[in-house]
Amino acid sequence: AKGAGKNQWRRYQAHLHNEMVERLELRSALDHAVNEGHFLLHYQPIVDLAAGTPVGFEALVRWHHPKRGVITPDQFIEVAEESGLIVPMGRWVLEEALRTVAEWRRILPPELAPYVSVNVSVRQFRENGFVDQVRNALQHTGVPPQGLMLEITETMLVKDDEQVWTNLATLRDLGIRIAIDDFGTGYSSLGYLRQRPIDVVKIDKTFIDDMITSHQPLALVTGIVSLAQSLGLIVVAEGIESPTHRELLVRMGCPFGQGYLFSSPLGPTEVLAWMRGVQP
Ligand code: C2E
Ligand code: CA
Ligand code: CA
Ligand code: CA
Repeated sequence: AKGAGKNQWRRYQAHLHNEMVERLELRSALDHAVNEGHFLLHYQPIVDLAAGTPVGFEALVRWHHPKRGVITPDQFIEVAEESGLIVPMGRWVLEEALRTVAEWRRILPPELAPYVSVNVSVRQFRENGFVDQVRNALQHTGVPPQGLMLEITETMLVKDDEQVWTNLATLRDLGIRIAIDDFGTGYSSLGYLRQRPIDVVKIDKTFIDDMITSHQPLALVTGIVSLAQSLGLIVVAEGIESPTHRELLVRMGCPFGQGYLFSSPLGPTEVLAWMRGVQP
């Protein structure tokens, strides 16, 4: 029995070792990717739920890995956050998203001009100079502040960092919209958000998923939608995969949403083709 315990311990140690090596490798590869610019953005339409027409696009980062091909953020965002590489990567994401939306806004008629919604890590918001970085990026791409939305996850915000809130308020004063991402996962109340510089609440996909099968999530989403709207917040529902989801959300008065029902994230050239397809 003693020998077995020892073996188990060794296996455990080997496992820890492998995991550490893997993380270190990932980190150094990511560092390289940041220096070489091995990233690309996909864009997922955010639509007016009743009309089915796009109002904006969420920029979602992808890593073009030399060996593994194009990989999604669930495989590297955590390491990017821990290592701080999310900061230079995020700077590139912001610039690239604005360059791209600037082009779409030039091509499309003004009434169809979309905004771009960019995910921003709390580490970026804490940076000195983040506000200037955003202001400069808007200026040299020629995108007006209303053409940009910044998303920050609810779980990051509940840590209640005053520096972050100050930066958010300044950005919002410029006319940029601020969205709380993954709302419902961080247990903050809408009442608490009321006194905060926020325009948009994005309801997390998990609530939308469960809405169809059980009564409680449906009541919860209905409650969030009506309370948010009474507080003057705009609501976007995430992860809409079926016509039933959409139908329920339209009926409860949820104005905007995104999900595979409308489109998965698209490459920049696919976006224009998709836009042509949905025009009446
Ligand atoms: P998120 O901001 O909640 O983004 C939504 C994720 O759900 C995206 O995954 C999207 O592809 C996926 N999705 C959209 N509609 C549906 C649907 O109907 N069904 C299902 N099953 N999934 C759907 P993705 O692109 O893998 O991004 C994952 C997360 O990575 C994002 O979650 C966001 O937190 C983070 N992320 C992505 N890009 C960036 C970035 O540029 N900067 C930072 N800091 N984080 C990013
Ligand atoms: Ca997001
Ligand atoms: Ca989200
Ligand atoms: Ca998420």
